[in-house]
Amino acid sequence: MKKISILGSTGSIGEQALDVARLHGYEITALTANSSVDIIEKQIREFHPKKVALVNEKAAEDLKIRIKDTDTKVLAGVSGVCECAAMETDTLLNSIVGMAGLEPTLTAINEGTEIALANKETLVAGGRLVTDTAKKKNVRILPVDSEHSAIFQSLQGNKHSQVKRLILTASGGPFFGKTIDDLKDVTVEQALAHPNWSMGAKITIDSATMMNKGLELIEAVWLFSVKPSDIDILVHRQSVVHSLVEYDDHSVMAQLGVPDMRVPIQYALTYPDRYNSPAKQLHLEDYATLTFEKPDYETFSAINLCKRAIEKGGLYPAIANSANEKANELFRQGKIKFLEIADLVASALENINSKEEYTLTDVLEKDKETKEFVTASV
Ligand code: NAD
Ligand code: MG
Repeated sequence: MKKISILGSTGSIGEQALDVARLHGYEITALTANSSVDIIEKQIREFHPKKVALVNEKAAEDLKIRIKDTDTKVLAGVSGVCECAAMETDTLLNSIVGMAGLEPTLTAINEGTEIALANKETLVAGGRLVTDTAKKKNVRILPVDSEHSAIFQSLQGNKHSQVKRLILTASGGPFFGKTIDDLKDVTVEQALAHPNWSMGAKITIDSATMMNKGLELIEAVWLFSVKPSDIDILVHRQSVVHSLVEYDDHSVMAQLGVPDMRVPIQYALTYPDRYNSPAKQLHLEDYATLTFEKPDYETFSAINLCKRAIEKGGLYPAIANSANEKANELFRQGKIKFLEIADLVASALENINSKEEYTLTDVLEKDKETKEFVTASV
């Protein structure tokens, strides 16, 4: 029986990963979350993990009392999450949202544990660090993000040296077709209404600004060792073609399916095998048309900010990511307007210094500096 640990098990990806685990009877080694006591208690009673960790210390105390009739050990804080990440298991699925996922990812890689990675922010911020450590430890990083899973699937059986370009598809989010003027006063509620995917709040806002596609471009650079200029983006409103790879002979391979994250989550856990899925089958005849078009780079300026950040390299992607994390949060709290998110990312990239080579401490310090800069700018 396969053993997995899930970091961020109470979130959108985490719960869908547990659906996959339930279907295939996986053993759960460890689960972690920020503070959702009710959900994680249910998960403990169903999956009997050896250890769980809650970042919030008070929530962890509460959980300890609630589950004292079980054999699960409760840990607290970031160190507790890292202790869970260090446990021996077959695959560690990281579905934490944001930079908080970086240290646990590195911890698991250093233990030699295979990673199924949903937590894209940490690959954006610490791409060189994560991929170099993985190479050194001979650890595989399997993509969970649907576009990157589609690319990974489309690369199977082909030579990397014969790849001409990657084509990332984007749903376009709730504001597709809108002008900058239309977006001046959009509300949090409007931005949270994603047409095709039901996801956590942070990534849903990232989809509305299309920062998500910029982060995914950087994620693809690290996962597939390609140049940013070798990645194109196409808006595909139906979210059926999850991404494509073009080869030197101009053949294009793609992976298709209904929009259901349990497909890429499962592939990361069963690779290279394919088993029965909890997701629905795709019936192409149900779709009148599949459409593809170039993004509106002027209205959704976050995409090009990310592209420039990865082209400049060093800590620029980390700065773009941290500025966005803070600005995204401030928008959700009603403290800034929608268009200010990309403006703040641009301003952070202009005003904060990068350096070419970096350590984990550099990334964490830059994260702090950038978030303080964004907070002070509003
Ligand atoms: P979510 O907000 O639904 O869940 C986040 C999880 O992380 C929760 O379990 C939460 O308790 C935990 N968490 C939050 N803050 C934490 C912290 N400081 N330290 C440790 N744990 C913390 O988010 P989600 O939508 O499941 O997304 C998770 C990751 O997967 C993100 O990086 C996102 O970009 C990526 N992703 C999500 C989807 C999707 O469909 N939801 C698709 C592709 C990629
Ligand atoms: Mg994606």
